[in-house]
Amino acid sequence: MTDIDIPVSTVRLGADVEESVLAVIRSGTIAQGPVVAALEAGFSRLCDVPHALAVNSGTTALVLALQALGVGPGDEVLTSPFTFAATLNAIIETGATATFVDIDDTYTVDPTLLAAAINPNTRVIMPVHLYGQPADMEAITAAAAHGIAVVEDAAQAHGARFAGRPVGSFGIGCFSLYATKNMTSGEGGIVTTSDDELAERMRILRNQGMQQRYQYVLAGHNYRLTDLQAAVAVPQLATLAAQTERRRANAARLSEGLAQLEGIILPRTAPGRTHVWHQYTVRVTEACRVDRDGLAAGLAERGVGTGVYYPRVVFDYDCYRNHRAVRTAEVPNAARAARQVLSLPVHPHLTDDHLDRIIAAVKEVAGA
Ligand SMILES: *Cc1c(COP(=O)(O)O)cnc(C)c1O
Repeated sequence: MTDIDIPVSTVRLGADVEESVLAVIRSGTIAQGPVVAALEAGFSRLCDVPHALAVNSGTTALVLALQALGVGPGDEVLTSPFTFAATLNAIIETGATATFVDIDDTYTVDPTLLAAAINPNTRVIMPVHLYGQPADMEAITAAAAHGIAVVEDAAQAHGARFAGRPVGSFGIGCFSLYATKNMTSGEGGIVTTSDDELAERMRILRNQGMQQRYQYVLAGHNYRLTDLQAAVAVPQLATLAAQTERRRANAARLSEGLAQLEGIILPRTAPGRTHVWHQYTVRVTEACRVDRDGLAAGLAERGVGTGVYYPRVVFDYDCYRNHRAVRTAEVPNAARAARQVLSLPVHPHLTDDHLDRIIAAVKEVAGA
């Protein structure tokens, strides 16, 4: 078997990051301090919101957002069935019940199904901006108008926009800084909000429920990020736009090269949305010469790495199907996507030669 020399994701940090981390090590302040504050200031500018709080993972960001809203047992959180387990785990952690609304061909929640999925117990709609494309935030904010909060799972969508507005500015925005995300601190997360009171509550919950030194006002937790980690992310605030542009150019080139391949459906960006291409995901349908796993194997033989995000509907595991806090639903679109999706490399470190090889390899394996 050939080695994969074009992996689906590559983490490459520069000399700017090395210097930034070294400065923190030498400063003697390695836990949450001024570098976390700098990251938060930069991220609030990116999302055009007054508050950004750094936390220690994207999962934590989701949990913190729900806790700050007071979500708990008896409440329902409506989300996408086609997402990473963290979305569901965060809901379960709060004691709330997770409910689901199927996706459309953008892989985000289908706005036409929203109204019917909402009931009097629905406290939060939690859309997932999957692969880097925003969900339909106009329909979601309209559906949430009656006392329902919006928590955006923007873990894959740093800098994406809907109708010109950044994700994370519609509801409480939850971002991940995990190693392979569009921006990283190794592990880490960010919560964004325009609501002063929510921001204050999240600041307190993040730090053991402490308002001032040994003044505990809420039962909290330790969700803090360190300056060591923030130092990895801060230099990326300045390079994110250029890196995203490279992802976009790579995606355009893949779509041009792969157009009109029988049975392969290319990713679609809905009008009014900017896609930041965390993943470039094709669908391998029944009309294709090979199935999804066949295409993945053929590409691997040619040195091209791929990923299946995600191989199953999020609740389609015994631990969730048998969980009393999970209300499963019929989600045929998500189920079909789980069988057909395949993500190709789109990351900013691809060369022209890599892109040509990816295109040639897909044509060889899946072409007529
Ligand atoms: C990565 C991710 C998360 C969780 O982020 P972590 O930083 O890994 O905890 C949540 N939701 C989605 C959609 C993700 O891709």
